[in-house]
Amino acid sequence: MLNTTRRQWQRQAIALALAPWCLPIAQPQDVARHWKTSPFALGVASGSPRADGVVLWTRLLIDEADRRTGANSGAANGSVADPVTVRWELFADDAMRQLVRQGQVVTDATRGHSVHVPLRDLPAGRDYWYRFTCGDATSAVGRTRTAPAADAPVQRLRLALASCQHFEQGQYIAHRDMAEQSLDFVLFVGDYIYESSNPRFLVRQHEGPEPMTLEAYRQRYAQYKRDPWLQASHAARPWVLMWDDHEVVNDYANDRDNRYSSREVFLARRAAAYQAYFEHQPLWIGPDLTSPARASMRLYDRLSWGTLADVWTLDCRQYRDYQACPDPLKGGARTVMNCAELDEPARSMLGREQEAWLGEGLRASRARWRLIAQSTQISSTSIATPLGRTAFNDAWDGYPQARLRLLQTIADLPERNVVTLGGDVHMNVAAPLRLRPGDLSSPVVASELVTTSITSRGLSENILSLIRSSNPDLLHARSDERGYTVVDVRPDVVRAEFRTTPHPAGTQDSLSVQAAFQVLAGRPGPVPA
Ligand code: FE
Ligand code: CA
Repeated sequence: MLNTTRRQWQRQAIALALAPWCLPIAQPQDVARHWKTSPFALGVASGSPRADGVVLWTRLLIDEADRRTGANSGAANGSVADPVTVRWELFADDAMRQLVRQGQVVTDATRGHSVHVPLRDLPAGRDYWYRFTCGDATSAVGRTRTAPAADAPVQRLRLALASCQHFEQGQYIAHRDMAEQSLDFVLFVGDYIYESSNPRFLVRQHEGPEPMTLEAYRQRYAQYKRDPWLQASHAARPWVLMWDDHEVVNDYANDRDNRYSSREVFLARRAAAYQAYFEHQPLWIGPDLTSPARASMRLYDRLSWGTLADVWTLDCRQYRDYQACPDPLKGGARTVMNCAELDEPARSMLGREQEAWLGEGLRASRARWRLIAQSTQISSTSIATPLGRTAFNDAWDGYPQARLRLLQTIADLPERNVVTLGGDVHMNVAAPLRLRPGDLSSPVVASELVTTSITSRGLSENILSLIRSSNPDLLHARSDERGYTVVDVRPDVVRAEFRTTPHPAGTQDSLSVQAAFQVLAGRPGPVPA
């Protein structure tokens, strides 16, 4: 019995029309389906919470034996896996007695048997528990929640800021630790998978070569998603997600990769990677395959946590200008010096449209705190040398005019309770953001917190000590430990705790607090807590 109302179905149909990867179902459920191996090996997830909804996710992993013997009994020849009907249930209690909503979704091989359930019209600020069933298989139970109502006088938001989880370079003990914390959501700012390997830092190994095709990206995600601690972290609460470069390929910028592949070849790869990303994450909207750029995907978003905080999640890869002064033989990021191109005013990290959208949103926001999540580091890591200052051309140091525009937009706000949250650089950073980085006479307009990586190896201490001594703004910069950051937002203070363990993270290790910083309302710039 479906207790979803007709109006809810209509709304869902509209949402589904916007999300071409999800199909509503009219077929009867295949209750007879018998599985030799549970297809729910990748766990469950939920994400992108709104005040009235959230997205539930799973992906069926159909074992070869089930494929061969036609566990999917509906198929005439007994060997075709498609389509598969998956049921979902949403409960108001952890004992799973108070059923709030249920339904079914048909999925098939064209979407990697991924399942997205976009739920709307739910009460705000509530916890929910959910699970999926397919034939005689039942998934793990996930817990999720809706965001508070826009006008709710929320007194607290506790989130985990995380990024960069190279599977080969450590164990996901940060996720084990995260799963045990009391948190509203996980904010993952990019590098969920890595396409590449570094043989010098192998704790465990990727299956298969560097992915280039949709099927290969699916396999890479499936390997990551089989990790039990990553599954626990997803099942414990909703995630809010952004990507960085490694979800496609290291250092890509817009339609260009680090090998200078032809645009056509690279965009085909990017399309595969974006589709695989959507298939594995709890997102409202998938890639637009009709776009002229071949599978563009609107990922940037904003979420509100009552009157306490607005959170922007940005896309720093899809629309950016190419890195300035690249090596003509080897593309991608590098450290540059005396590069006039850096200062070209038109250069953008976010693209014109996203930049305008962010500016409008920041100006319109009435929330106590404005949190800007982006995938890399805004404060400078340039090094002073006798010949001039270096600039790492992949982070915001490579887009100084775009950085100045963003910081000026913040400086012009009547209230400057802005905290930027980042990742990518595999180090913990706390820094004041000044209009002119490193110039101590320039006003502090915002506060930056960058989280270290879950597992990915960081910079050497030799280089980092040069960076520190060249940048007085870096209150804290440590690349030697792995972990994540708890960001605790209250009306009068944002407190951040860097939770870490030495590199590489091993199964027997545990996390402790490396350092804590706070930002007081009305006083931009982090201070030790
Ligand atoms: Fe990374
Ligand atoms: Ca990155």
